[in-house]
Amino acid sequence: MMKQKSIAGNLQPRFAGEEAGAMEKQKTPLGRFYDWLGVLLAVCLIMFSLTGKILFAPAEEDAAVSAPAATSDGSVIVVDAGHGLPDGGAESPGGVKEAGLNLAVAKLVESGLQDAGFTVIMTRTGKNALDKTKREDMAARRAIMRTDGVSAVVSIHMNKFRDPVVRGPMVFYMKGSAKGEWLAASVIENVCRSIGDPKRNANPGDYYVLRESVAPAVIVECGFLSNPADERLLQDKAHQEKLACGIAAGIAAYFAADR
Ligand SMILES: [Zn+2]
Repeated sequence: MMKQKSIAGNLQPRFAGEEAGAMEKQKTPLGRFYDWLGVLLAVCLIMFSLTGKILFAPAEEDAAVSAPAATSDGSVIVVDAGHGLPDGGAESPGGVKEAGLNLAVAKLVESGLQDAGFTVIMTRTGKNALDKTKREDMAARRAIMRTDGVSAVVSIHMNKFRDPVVRGPMVFYMKGSAKGEWLAASVIENVCRSIGDPKRNANPGDYYVLRESVAPAVIVECGFLSNPADERLLQDKAHQEKLACGIAAGIAAYFAADR
């Protein structure tokens, strides 16, 4: 399915979050729920508006400024686009390699998280791997993931399986990590909702990126390149945006509750 993951880049959040921070105190469960809804809505609206895919009313500015900042506190998230040339990663029967798709989705996740007030570090922003050999590339990603102050790591990949019928997203966490499991559950729940799939559970795993991260880490396998329908969807910009929106919303919801 996947092997390793990554990290690199550093942007300032568009919304600082002081005022929201005050609003966040003494939150009731219901209050958190509404915060979460606000974050999800805002992230989606922002992403759709940025790409000219507004679905309804041009009122996204309001939601964008008020809701997202409430939950992030500028937390630092490492977004890792898996693989990178010459390692293309998994390849579909039609010759589509995951490395490029991983980067496309990772950049959308970066935007969504920044719009929600997070600081994002990308492991890679170009098509190439971080270093010459796989071993050095993974070591470089490990170092980025372990940067001081990182609050969570999300590694983006595309899956592949021998049975072409298998499809859909999967989210992995390090077996035994309670926080990782919590984060993974939040991400898969939001991804499934965002793309209109039935609810799925998160999966425990023991992969390099999960194992080597100090902060809670998840691997998002966005879909199966070995499934014809997924192969098409994973290359579709609108679907990539839905995936990214769900990933960002899942991370935001995790931090909204984790305080
Ligand atoms: Zn992969």
